[in-house]
Amino acid sequence: MKIPQNSSPMTMSSLGLSTNPSTINSSYEILPEESANNRSKPVSAAEHQAVPILYYHSVMLEVGNEIRMPPDQFEAQMAYLKDKGYQSVSLDQLYQAQYRGGTLPPKPFVITFDDGYADNYTTAFPILKKYGFTATIFMVSSYINGEDFMSWPQLKELAANGWDIEGHTVNHPYLSKQDATTVLSELRSSKELLERELERPVEFFAYPYGDYNTPVVLAVRNTGYLMAVTTERGWANHNTDSWHVHRVYCYANMGLNEFSRRLHNPNY
Ligand SMILES: [Zn+2]
Repeated sequence: MKIPQNSSPMTMSSLGLSTNPSTINSSYEILPEESANNRSKPVSAAEHQAVPILYYHSVMLEVGNEIRMPPDQFEAQMAYLKDKGYQSVSLDQLYQAQYRGGTLPPKPFVITFDDGYADNYTTAFPILKKYGFTATIFMVSSYINGEDFMSWPQLKELAANGWDIEGHTVNHPYLSKQDATTVLSELRSSKELLERELERPVEFFAYPYGDYNTPVVLAVRNTGYLMAVTTERGWANHNTDSWHVHRVYCYANMGLNEFSRRLHNPNY
């Protein structure tokens, strides 16, 4: 991803951060306001703030499967975030801040889960509740009520507790390999079903497998989504448009040091 060309307070150099993990801890507490080249001016509008969007799939123990984050590791990550003063924000708050001039609280981050595994409800939900965080589920609509995936009552309970349930197609295809009619139907049918059942707008989208091309981006846009997230590395920032938003991959056995490193380097 591009390194921002402006003097944004969140660039690596202005934060005194390096990509070397061994130096992260010593520079951890340096805030943008304290960095030397930023001292003479206030932190600019929130739209310049880069924000890590964490992305997970399943939260359960299965040795050798990197998309299933062991619950004890997941809890350690959430405890770390809470301890360091991070605050979870919704994708809508992020969108408003980066593209519509809105504001964010200090140390914002976003938690997302792709696909809609049942353990997001049974395991992740109680842990996030304990630490005062909420998250976004990118739900594959045909998986709802399926074995290993969430049911409508579970999704509705999450929504009632401040979580967002957003679009991730009907069948989780590689969208760039589908014809235009299939792409539109994958996008529209899933969005409409979620909106009808959950009785709230579905405005954010995650590309299955992070796969997209220009026609897919245009179709997502034409379906009425406001923003789409990818699987490209890095923090969300307004230097990309709202259809190519980067995320921070969280995988089993990454360890707290690597987790911390990704939270300190917008271009990790
Ligand atoms: Zn997915």
